Amino acid sequence: MKFRGNIGAALLLVLAAGLAYVVFLRAGAPPLTSEAAVTPPVSAAELPSSSPSPPLTPSPSLTLSPTLSPAPTPTPSPTPELPAVDLTAWNLALVNSDHPLDKDFSPDVITVENSQKYDARAADALKTFIAAARDKGFSVYLSSGYRTYATQEYLFNRKVSQMEANGLQGDAAITAAARIVAYPGASEHQLGLAADITDKYYEIMDVSLADTPLLQWMKAHCAEYGFILRYPEGKQDITGVMFEPWHFRYVGTDAAAYIMEHGLCLEEFWALYEE
Ligand SMILES: [Zn+2]
Repeated sequence: MKFRGNIGAALLLVLAAGLAYVVFLRAGAPPLTSEAAVTPPVSAAELPSSSPSPPLTPSPSLTLSPTLSPAPTPTPSPTPELPAVDLTAWNLALVNSDHPLDKDFSPDVITVENSQKYDARAADALKTFIAAARDKGFSVYLSSGYRTYATQEYLFNRKVSQMEANGLQGDAAITAAARIVAYPGASEHQLGLAADITDKYYEIMDVSLADTPLLQWMKAHCAEYGFILRYPEGKQDITGVMFEPWHFRYVGTDAAAYIMEHGLCLEEFWALYEE
C-alpha cells in the first residue's frame, strides 16, 4: 500500500508537473500568437481588398484628377526657357575680337538697297524690317551692310591715323581706334549680318541717335523681324564696342526675342548655353 501510495504520489507529481508545463506553455503562447496574429490581418486585408478596393479606388481618382490637372498646367508657362537654338548656325555666329573671322571669309551676299549688300539668307528679313519702319512714316537710310575684310582694314587704319593725329601713339592709338571701328576680322559687317541704320539726314553717328524716334522704334520692334541691337548701352566691357544705337544684327526671331526681352548682348546670350 505504501509502495502504491508512493506510485500514486509520483503520478500526482507527474500530472502536476504536466499541468504546470501546459500552463507555462499557454502563458508563453500569447506573445507568439500576437505576433502571428499580425500576419493574418494583413493577408486577410489583401485578400478582401481585391474585391472591395477596385470600386473604391477608381472613383476617388477619377473625381480628383479633373480638379488636379488644371493646377499643374500654369506651371510650365511662366518658366522662361532659353530658345532651343544651335549656336553653330550661320545666323548666330559670334564675331568679336576674341572670335575674329578669317581674312578670306566672304558670305553669299545680295544687294538690298543703297548699294549695300547683305547675307542672301537674311536679306528679306532686313528688307521687311526697313519697310515696316517706312510704313510707320520714318525716313530710313541703310548706311552700311556687308563689308569685305579689305574695307574694314581700310576703315580701321584710317581711324588709327585719326587717333595718331589726336596725339595718341602706337598701341594707344590702335586700342582707341578699336573701340570705334572693329579690328579687321572682328567686324560683324564682314559676316554680312550687320546693318547700320540711320535717319537719312544724319551724317554723324553718335549715341545721340538713340533718342531719335526712328531708332527708338527700331529698338522696340527689331526682334519681331529677327534683329537685335548688337552693341547695347552699358555692355561695352563685354562687347568691346561702344554703344551703337544704329547697328542691328540678324540672329533669327527666336534668339532675337529672348535677347531683346532680357537686354542681353550676343556674348551674354552665348554664355547662357556654355553653362
Ligand atoms: Zn555697324
